[in-house]
Amino acid sequence: MGSTHRGRRRPLRSLFGVLAVATAIAASLLAPVRADAAGMTTHGWMAVEAIDEVTDPGLAALLRAHQEQVRAGAMFPDLGYFGSNTYGEEAHWQRFVDAYVDLITDRTDCGPDLADPNGPCADMIAHAFGIAGHGMGDEVWDWLFEPNSPDRDEYYTNGLPTATEGGAETQMDLVAVGVHGVPRPEIPPLPDVATLLQAFEDSGFSGVTPDQFSTVPFGGVVWDVETQWAAEHLAGVQAAMPWMSANLVTAPGGIDFAATAIAGYWDSMWGRLNGNQPTTEVSITHPAPGQEDVPATGWVRSYQPGSARGRGGAATRITAVLTYSRPYAPPGGSGVPATMAPGTMTITAVGSGEQLPIMSGFPRSVPYGGDAGQHLIDVQPATDLEACTWYEVAVGVTTPVLDARGLPVTPHTWTFRTACAPNQITGTVIAPDGVGLGGSFVLGYRPTDGFLPTTGALIEPDGTYALPDLPEGDYRLVFVPGAASGLRMQWSGNTASRSLATSTTVPGEAVVDFQAEASAVVSGKVTDSTGAPLADVTVYAVGPYDTWVPTEWRTTGADGTYSFPYLPAADYAIGFRRPADPTIHWWPSGTTRRSDATLVPVDVAHQPNVDFTFPS
Ligand SMILES: [Zn+2]
Repeated sequence: MGSTHRGRRRPLRSLFGVLAVATAIAASLLAPVRADAAGMTTHGWMAVEAIDEVTDPGLAALLRAHQEQVRAGAMFPDLGYFGSNTYGEEAHWQRFVDAYVDLITDRTDCGPDLADPNGPCADMIAHAFGIAGHGMGDEVWDWLFEPNSPDRDEYYTNGLPTATEGGAETQMDLVAVGVHGVPRPEIPPLPDVATLLQAFEDSGFSGVTPDQFSTVPFGGVVWDVETQWAAEHLAGVQAAMPWMSANLVTAPGGIDFAATAIAGYWDSMWGRLNGNQPTTEVSITHPAPGQEDVPATGWVRSYQPGSARGRGGAATRITAVLTYSRPYAPPGGSGVPATMAPGTMTITAVGSGEQLPIMSGFPRSVPYGGDAGQHLIDVQPATDLEACTWYEVAVGVTTPVLDARGLPVTPHTWTFRTACAPNQITGTVIAPDGVGLGGSFVLGYRPTDGFLPTTGALIEPDGTYALPDLPEGDYRLVFVPGAASGLRMQWSGNTASRSLATSTTVPGEAVVDFQAEASAVVSGKVTDSTGAPLADVTVYAVGPYDTWVPTEWRTTGADGTYSFPYLPAADYAIGFRRPADPTIHWWPSGTTRRSDATLVPVDVAHQPNVDFTFPS
């Protein structure tokens, strides 16, 4: 917690008396000096995760060998806000990191190989890199992760000491220790206090005294306190902040994203340390390259860091992370604007090639003011985007983006697509007056489907239905009424069969409505030549589009009667077959050839009674 531009420090909250003295000290270390930022445990975690992502294997080996010094460095800047300490703010920034790195470079006692894990300056390098990891972690966390909190209305304070709605640091620290098992830090001694103090002097920040570092060893106690709090509050945090808790590692601005950003920063620092700082590059972006689910709407709003209520817009930020910062104010010098020149970051619709108008105030360095050197740059369109459309973001292509050395950042482009309309068919089945649709459903068949449909859904009590997440294809729908509804089955286009049904093509969204109609009924009685009722006779209703399988069939009861209550309107051949007799007799002619059968018109207006007597 705690990276910010000047003037945003918050007073430390008073200590709470229930905890032991060491615990109280640690807790006060956790007290937010500024609300919106990552917690100390999270900072240590991000930095350690970044070690595996650095390019130079020698640097990776050095940092791995001094992993706890990296972690301690990543916790160091926020300790500078404690009590009467003054160095917290400055320690977050590129200006200070450059001063620290340059002092190490200038030393003559660091041995021939700075990458030697056993070299005399190895722990100092690890500490400086850890500090840099903290600043970068705050930038990506504050700008990209925490705004999810207001977007999703996820907040938890509930008596959790030091937790506020303005930030998620304490809450997510509990997830870090309680869910992800982030280990207790073993804080090594500061590598070299004199060099550290000189670095503050060189970055133009005077007045830091050695006693300000007396809290550095308490990093382990911070973990102890958080672990204690997790026992009481972790379940509550997870319940109240489910998305934040579940996506802490993988979300933009979360642990993995921060680790990539930190590793890029370290690659640049490592070059500087060895007298050959590489060209500044884009290390990671939001949206991710090729991302296809970026919202098309919600872009026009104010963009601020942190999780305070009323902020947000996490998903609609176009951000690139640089491996070295934008220009910062020289020690003691005047400030630098956060706003960047027009053309330094552009957004182009890929299909039309048209460049989008940019929101006022953008492109700019984010999340805070420009003065101390930030690594995030951001551009926002002036209006919402088109759905299902590819956009290309360009950094430094038409107008260079300059880094803190005044050198151009390597031009960088990436594309993302806004979300397309979901593949779904929805609609309403309008019931005739007084007839409910309970138990009715809608099925969707593609041409390759056999008896089983691709999709289906129960109809809601209000008559609506939705067939979501459909595979692409042409869909013929059928409304299948519940057995007791008295309604007839109906295919899309108000047709009687699948082959006649109109089809609807997905991808995209479509609406298919049905006007439910009362079913046509055919009923009758089957007797033998003496007039006695015949049971167990199979009765077939064969529609005009049936080939081998009839539309329906029924069996007569003990009194010889049958009924087809749900026939679609059509002309039917009605056939009758006795058990153990393979011959079907077609009404009413008594013929045994279907082609000779007399057709029976059936619809709501014609609901015939079809009796049949078998010849003797
Ligand atoms: Zn911080």
